[in-house]
Amino acid sequence: MSMITLALSKGRIFDETLPLLKAAGIEVLDDPEKSRKLILDTNLPEVRLLVVRATDVPTYVQYGGADLGITGKDTLLEHGGQGLYQPLDLQIAKCRMSVAVRADFDYASAVKQGSRLTVATKFVAIAREFFASKGVHVDLIKLYGSMELAPLVGMADAIVDVVSTGGTLKANHLVEVEQIMEISSRLVVNQAALKLKREPIRKIIDAFASAIAVPA
Ligand code: AMP
Repeated sequence: MSMITLALSKGRIFDETLPLLKAAGIEVLDDPEKSRKLILDTNLPEVRLLVVRATDVPTYVQYGGADLGITGKDTLLEHGGQGLYQPLDLQIAKCRMSVAVRADFDYASAVKQGSRLTVATKFVAIAREFFASKGVHVDLIKLYGSMELAPLVGMADAIVDVVSTGGTLKANHLVEVEQIMEISSRLVVNQAALKLKREPIRKIIDAFASAIAVPA
């Protein structure tokens, strides 16, 4: 009996993954919000969860620290996806990747005039690719959080960030001017683990797949 290790992050993804795990017959025995444990046991002795930083999930799976992982499409695109098999869109933690600017910044005119834009973001790969495909020249400023601040203090013309309800943008007087892509969480699998532990991993993929198929 080989051990199966699943990596995921705390918060939204963890919460929305619980029903999928349940459908696969897996129940988590610890609450990651209360426990300081980084390895969580489940009701199945051969299945355990790793709770890691969201941006580290693809890396744990890539290097075999975990066999499977659950990660946002945004995080996956920034990582690059090397060594990862991506069998399922889990349709959870949905949001969108957007461009936002201060309400008093005329983004459309700036783009039309071919102005060089300064863009602050955590998602530099996605932003670089998006503006390149539009033929817009950008200077990217890498930030690790609270991107909304950058236009407010005059550090950037625009931000690229994930938007869910739009409440955060609104509270900071920013407006969404362009949607880059829809985001949801994906199941990723280590390619070597898929070969070595084919049966148990397939079982989890199939159980997740049928759980998604049932509309919420
Ligand atoms: P909002 O509901 O638009 O105010 O979203 C608030 C903040 O939560 C955003 O700026 C993001 O940082 C974060 N956020 C919302 N939804 C997601 C998601 N599905 N994945 C990751 N971050 C999210």
